[in-house]
Amino acid sequence: MAEVEVDQDLCIADQVCASMHPDIFEMGDDGFAHVVDGMEELEDAGDIDRAKEAAEACPVDAITVSE
Ligand code: SF4
Repeated sequence: MAEVEVDQDLCIADQVCASMHPDIFEMGDDGFAHVVDGMEELEDAGDIDRAKEAAEACPVDAITVSE
């Protein structure tokens, strides 16, 4: 299991994560990225890998994946 979080204070809203994996990340009404409802705790290894991929791609390290 892994917990996924986005720090909106760091996010620069470039939409990289939401473009890569829109089933896990979405852009909110506030203009910043958020974890899609129900995807805050991931069990599937493939989902966890994809969340990590987005975290690595984020230019400001705003995404945390904690196992
Ligand atoms: S990749 Fe990072 S900076 Fe870009 S929208 Fe996602 S959380 Fe924000």
